[in-house]
Amino acid sequence: MRILVYIDLLAGSATSLSKELIAGALKLAGPSGSVDLAVIGNDAGSVSNLGAGRVLQIQDPRLMHYNPAGHIASIDALIEHTSPDLVLLGYCTAGLDIGPYVAMKRNLPLVSYCTDIRIEGAEVEAESQIYGGKMKATSKISLPAVLVVNPGVYREADVSTAIAEIIHVDAPSGLDRMGIDFIRATEPDLNAIDITKSDRLLCVGRGIGDTDGVENARQAAGLLGAELVGSRPVVDAGWLPKERQVGKSGRKVKPRLYMALGVSGAPEHLEGMASSGTIVAVNSDARAPIFDYAHFGATVDVSDFLEALTEALGK
Ligand SMILES: Cc1cc2nc3c(=O)[nH]c(=O)nc-3n(C[C@H](O)[C@H](O)[C@H](O)COP(=O)(O)OP(=O)(O)OC[C@H]3O[C@@H](n4cnc5c(N)ncnc54)[C@H](O)[C@@H]3O)c2cc1C
Repeated sequence: MRILVYIDLLAGSATSLSKELIAGALKLAGPSGSVDLAVIGNDAGSVSNLGAGRVLQIQDPRLMHYNPAGHIASIDALIEHTSPDLVLLGYCTAGLDIGPYVAMKRNLPLVSYCTDIRIEGAEVEAESQIYGGKMKATSKISLPAVLVVNPGVYREADVSTAIAEIIHVDAPSGLDRMGIDFIRATEPDLNAIDITKSDRLLCVGRGIGDTDGVENARQAAGLLGAELVGSRPVVDAGWLPKERQVGKSGRKVKPRLYMALGVSGAPEHLEGMASSGTIVAVNSDARAPIFDYAHFGATVDVSDFLEALTEALGK
């Protein structure tokens, strides 16, 4: 079993998701298999000690910044170079761009949103989320194949004493005609909070009303020892920063306690938090879908609830 893993880099370092994929690939390949890491445009040093046998590096100034056309052509070149049985990409902007395109170009089967992968001889059985996580699908496909894997499926790869062989591969042709020009990168603040690491989250949705409501929720979160997070409308309104957004286009979280205040429970939000340990929902509408997922709920006005909660916690 030969596995090629696409490495997504942020400020020169592999993202947590890439490290998770490396661990997953090592497990799937087993002792007799091999894992190659695809590093495009950047220095391969940051992933050479994570247990993979080889790092395949394509370095070209035109690939320094993520450009879908250039990275797709590069992964295609690496597939040509290594003939992998399995290509693994993470559920991130690059993975969602590259996976389907490479699968189509190479005429390979593709499963996106994978939550579990099993190799069975010349086939792979992949469990994946469909309809925004409302349903689970099990697909059996023949190898070679392309899989796009959700975050949190594997634990991050440990640092290893063995150093991978670094192989330089020529850049693909056509990089002068990519059709997309890089203008600037807006990188997330690396010192920003990682809400996936928190045990308790207090989430505010549009029902929180305004910034005063958010401040009241922040106070209650502090007393509760919880991080304050939000649904997408709250982040879009600028009431909370993007790194605190939960859901499909935010972070996927699994805290022991998730308190959802004024959140309706749209599929895109549920996708990010439905597997939390204990879910408490507060919503004035008893028919809000969040109550289908909540372990405890209250149909009250969120400001009344916050007042009572803050008072109780203050005692
Ligand atoms: C591609 C895509 C990606 C998306 N990604 C995300 C994502 O990452 N995260 C995300 O959250 N959404 C995401 N969305 C948006 C998602 O579809 C919903 O629009 C969003 O989750 C709704 O947020 P909400 O529950 O805060 O707001 P609403 O759906 O407007 O719900 C507000 C809730 O508050 C209740 N309420 C109102 N006033 C009060 C009150 N005074 N007291 C108590 N309850 C009250 C209402 O009954 C209602 O249930 C995405 C959508 C798309 C298409």
